[in-house]
Amino acid sequence: MALNETHDPQLSSWVAAANGAGTDFTLQNLPLGVFRCAGSSEAFRGGVAIGDQILDLAAALQAGVFDAREVGAAAAGAAMAAAQPALNELMAAGPAAWTALRLALSRALRSGAPQQAALQSCLLPQAQAQFALPARIGDYTDFYTSIYHATAVGKLFRPDNPLLPNYKWMPIAYHGRCSSIAISGQQFKRPSGQILAAGAATPVLAPSQRLDYELELGLFIGPGNALGTPIAIESAESNVFGLCLLNDWSARDLQAWEYQPLGPFLGKNFATTISPWIVTLEALEPYRVAWTRPAADPQPLSYLDSPELRRTGAIDIQLECLLQSAAMRRSGQVPCRLSRSSFRHAYWTIAQMVAHHTVNGCNLRPGDVLGTGTQSGPQAAEAGSLLELSVGGKQPLTLPDGETRRFLEDDDAVIMRGWCERAGAARVGFGELEGRVLKHAG
Ligand code: MN
Repeated sequence: MALNETHDPQLSSWVAAANGAGTDFTLQNLPLGVFRCAGSSEAFRGGVAIGDQILDLAAALQAGVFDAREVGAAAAGAAMAAAQPALNELMAAGPAAWTALRLALSRALRSGAPQQAALQSCLLPQAQAQFALPARIGDYTDFYTSIYHATAVGKLFRPDNPLLPNYKWMPIAYHGRCSSIAISGQQFKRPSGQILAAGAATPVLAPSQRLDYELELGLFIGPGNALGTPIAIESAESNVFGLCLLNDWSARDLQAWEYQPLGPFLGKNFATTISPWIVTLEALEPYRVAWTRPAADPQPLSYLDSPELRRTGAIDIQLECLLQSAAMRRSGQVPCRLSRSSFRHAYWTIAQMVAHHTVNGCNLRPGDVLGTGTQSGPQAAEAGSLLELSVGGKQPLTLPDGETRRFLEDDDAVIMRGWCERAGAARVGFGELEGRVLKHAG
């Protein structure tokens, strides 16, 4: 994919808030989500974030802005798919449809666009919206693409053998559960499960005492593949609609006792939170960086390697995780940052995840979600989980108000943010993801 007129950093929007220096939702971003008026019983429908507003695509269609005679058949068809209560049909339509819609939106939302008069009444302030999952998610797989996370966690679980030999040869993953994926704002009760205390001979059933978050990105699958037909690395990215933020909540005590030999189960499947807006790969194009593999490490097998991957396979997406305790909320303190990192540090890329997932013929379908795994950077302070930041609970973190945390406490809110920024390109942001732990039910 190449840069085109929609990436031009000089473009401004007639939606004034889209032109502010710090906004996530510039005219060059145009992420898609599903929303309705908060507190209403309206049908959910697709929308595009622009500044602090949402462009209601169903209303824009009614206003005739995406008439095929005006924008062409591809953009008109894509706009109809994007106005639905779930974006699966748009995801299935593929990159040509996504690109046509992006161009039509960019032109209609530009300063001086003749569509402004018709679209003005199709805006809803984001602050007045309620969001839904952007797609019917049929399957969810969570990868483990940060070697820094894998090594740090491996050291805690297996001090003598932190990184297992398969790690550098393939993108490791487990099959997650989609029934407990929810949109930002998710609140869930502290899960119970079997816990084997240190030195104990028998486990007990108890609420998790080592509840954690994982700072991740989620990928929404586009057209996907037929069962039995792998996706080659060269076409892997044309099967990815876009990215969102993802929190893979994890109960470390449940996980430690159950994970061998078949991997995570009840330690992970009680809740997963995603952010409402999906940022397309096309919007992220200015933030591509070269993907490299250290010369001393095994080079990938050929089905996981390509010249294009080496040239532009990684994406520099800044990620941060923040916490706001109940006490901080009561005293009006803003969330405090726990860590910050970038997706550019991932050992395996988006294209490699897709190619590996399907190499055995496994089929991916429109709306499936792939998690990237916890994105921890090379420095200890760049870790994407409390397990790492507190060194397995041994070194508590001190919050600005003097509270300490080894793991999450009841009523803690975890907030995640992501954005891309560099000179010569418009900022492209993911907005925010928030989720909260409630007291155990028992
Ligand atoms: Mn995870």
